[in-house]
Amino acid sequence: MTEPKIKHYSVFSSFPKLIHGFSTRIGGVSLPPFDSLNLGLSTKDDREAVLENRRRIFKALRIAKERVVYPQQVHGDTIQTVTQPGIVAECDALITNRPNLFLSIQTADCFPIFLYDPHEQVVAIVHSGWRGTARNIVGKTIRKLKQTFNVRPQNLLVAIGPGAQKSCYQVDDSVIPYFDPDFYEEDDPGHYLLDLQGAIRQQILSEGVPGGQIEADQDCTHCRSDLYYSYRRDGEHSGRMMGIIGIRP
Ligand SMILES: [Zn+2]
Repeated sequence: MTEPKIKHYSVFSSFPKLIHGFSTRIGGVSLPPFDSLNLGLSTKDDREAVLENRRRIFKALRIAKERVVYPQQVHGDTIQTVTQPGIVAECDALITNRPNLFLSIQTADCFPIFLYDPHEQVVAIVHSGWRGTARNIVGKTIRKLKQTFNVRPQNLLVAIGPGAQKSCYQVDDSVIPYFDPDFYEEDDPGHYLLDLQGAIRQQILSEGVPGGQIEADQDCTHCRSDLYYSYRRDGEHSGRMMGIIGIRP
């Protein structure tokens, strides 16, 4: 049996109390086209296979599956502060200061963002596609961390996971008005290549997080079919990766 391959970010590596990870498609039981570590129950994959894949990733991270929080993601900018596990209706960012509570999000091209304040012992997770980024969901999450838990942005550590990178992320002219011209260039007439990860990084910097505390995974989910699912590439045949963050009990 291949162990689930999970990515970890070095920005968090000196904090043994923190658990985090971002799954790849490697190390699960789903059959093609969802092979193999599909974690999305909303896909057309076999439900039992997805549940087994979830058991495997939670086991690999050494967390109890009963302690995971799942947002019902809607590409909006609603942020919920949570105190218990389970499903949270219609939101794309979660915050908690409770230990032994693990925040999750699912992606397949959109960017997962992990945030941790070691001073206040607070974590957050954000799902930011172009719609969420256009609404600055990550900036709003940082402001909510400040208001709710007195988090100082100077203390935040942030990782932006992999997603569809600029050379694979063509958008039309209905999308670009929401973005700074620094982050896109014209490709074909009326079509642009958008650096969504760069725009997200800028939003985090604008809230006062030092650049040296922001790690951006350079992998492209669209290019790396060996490692990642991609909705742009595979449409309804795409599985989902999962990002997880929480504080050890
Ligand atoms: Zn690519």
